[in-house]
Amino acid sequence: MSGKLADWTTGAESIVYQSCAACGAAQYFRRSFCAVCGAPDPQEKRASGAGTVYATSLVCRAATPETRAHVPYNIVLVDIAEGFRMMAHGENDLAIGDKVNARFAQFAGRLVPYFQKVK
Ligand SMILES: [Zn+2]
Repeated sequence: MSGKLADWTTGAESIVYQSCAACGAAQYFRRSFCAVCGAPDPQEKRASGAGTVYATSLVCRAATPETRAHVPYNIVLVDIAEGFRMMAHGENDLAIGDKVNARFAQFAGRLVPYFQKVK
């Protein structure tokens, strides 16, 4: 049986994904089966946090009062080294193709992954 690893959604400074033992596919959203081959019980693993920017979207208007203090802020899609794509926060000057690493930051009262350019 695979246990549940703590990740940022529960306040831990960690990004967790699932890896299929049968076909090797990686997926970010937790399911009880592999979305590629249907094998049950994918293993949970910790991601390194390294990745490449796939898309960026600078948010200039806050959706809620809690996020107003943060504008403008950047929402990025990152292709993570372990083989899945995730949405997260990132530095405002990130560009498509930049190599990035995850750290964690407080945003509107919760801990979120925050990608920084690898120097
Ligand atoms: Zn699979």
